[in-house]
Amino acid sequence: MTDITAKDQTLDPENWDQMRQLGHQMIDDLFDYWQSIRDQKIWKPIPGEVKDFLDQPIPEKGQDPEQVYRDFKQYVFPYNKGNVHPRFFAWIQGTGTPMGVLADLLASGMNPNTTIGEHSAMYVDRQVVNWCKELMNFPLEASGILVSGGSMANITALTVARNSFKEEKIRTKGLKAASAQLVLYCSVETHSCIQKAAEIIGLGTDAVRKIGVNERYEMNGDELESCIQEDLEAGLFPFAVVGTSGTVNTGAIDPMEELLAISRKYGLWFHVDGAYGALAKLDSKYSDRLKAIEEADSLAFDLHKWLYVPYEVGCTLIRDAKKHREAFAITPNYLLQESRGLSGGLDSVNNYGFELSRGFKALKIWMSLKEHGRMKYAEMIAQNNRQAEYLGSLVENSPELELTAPVSMSITCFRMVKPDLSESQLRDLNREILLRLQEEGIASPSSTILQGKYTLRVANVNQRTRMEDMDLLVREVLRIGREIGE
Ligand SMILES: *Cc1c(COP(=O)(O)O)cnc(C)c1O
Repeated sequence: MTDITAKDQTLDPENWDQMRQLGHQMIDDLFDYWQSIRDQKIWKPIPGEVKDFLDQPIPEKGQDPEQVYRDFKQYVFPYNKGNVHPRFFAWIQGTGTPMGVLADLLASGMNPNTTIGEHSAMYVDRQVVNWCKELMNFPLEASGILVSGGSMANITALTVARNSFKEEKIRTKGLKAASAQLVLYCSVETHSCIQKAAEIIGLGTDAVRKIGVNERYEMNGDELESCIQEDLEAGLFPFAVVGTSGTVNTGAIDPMEELLAISRKYGLWFHVDGAYGALAKLDSKYSDRLKAIEEADSLAFDLHKWLYVPYEVGCTLIRDAKKHREAFAITPNYLLQESRGLSGGLDSVNNYGFELSRGFKALKIWMSLKEHGRMKYAEMIAQNNRQAEYLGSLVENSPELELTAPVSMSITCFRMVKPDLSESQLRDLNREILLRLQEEGIASPSSTILQGKYTLRVANVNQRTRMEDMDLLVREVLRIGREIGE
């Protein structure tokens, strides 16, 4: 028998006033954190007892909300990664902005599942995708979708490319039915997510041709073309070329015009992975070299990198909206659309990607672009590029430092050198410099290996960095490097 006398329960707070105050406290703590971030250490090691605390089993019973927040402040908040800090330069990670964070709070408070239905978030989502087209100078008839990040944006685009390949009907018949193996082309410097995408969409690693690069780490167009010809002669199906606008290692830009021309010549899908550097288009210094992006069949780019919005959000744009929809559209009985009411409105976003439930991630982009406008973002991106060049000039002016790659976009790769050290001693020296920079909480570059040289890698998509941070970084690299081996 159902017990209808049981008290109704809820997860809403027992004491709304207490929760409201706690919420205000959280906001205050965040603002204190951001406002003083420059004076704080960028990173600190996590003590063993904190790791133990974060390894406890699931709580059976609840605790007071204030205690929960105290746990957060004691065990979580102090050991942040650091990409909110002005001297975070590792991998390629954005800073976020206060408005972006507040927008996420509002989005999560409204909590609309932004896939289907007649409600405001759907229109904001559509407007933001249209703004993304405007940022990239894509035609307004193109289509697009906001996804969790660059990896998801790339696989979404490559799925459309695969499904719309010739008359092969791969969506219905599968790859097995294709009359030959499909082959994809990218460079040796291409991000690993492209290979993963090729594996997941059924091409397999062996069908990914990694074309060589020149001394600036840009794809070699001649090699691409002869590779395509060889594959055609072998009876294979070349189907897509992936050019990178801003490689993850060195910020290199593949020769976009040339890749576009080769793709057109052989009837291949031209996809651009601009996860990091498509937005460099906004900097007049790069806009010419990136012009051909506008002609691409598809483009993937991240907004959590160079638009500085909080994690996570990336965007896929597809030139041919029909092909985009045909790759994903499906309407089961429980997702029927009506012309009126809550299930009316815009076409379901689920018809343009794999994910069904989606958060209201468009709001942080919408509010950020309204807060600052396109011009301010163009200035910020150009500022990061100038900071990278400035760092490059500091390196070139120091006899103890050397550039290990040309500065491109906002990535500067360099290392310390000392006379008479072998390659492996130089590696140990620079690795030790990197680890001490991080452990002393000064700055967080990351590392890479370029032509066998262990390298400090500074990738700057940081809206808090100032020129003086580059001076400080070089000063500290030299100080630590000189201390080592004294
Ligand atoms: C960051 C990056 C990716 C992956 O994007 P995520 O947002 O991390 O999934 C892909 N390609 C390039 C060139 C990148 O810089």
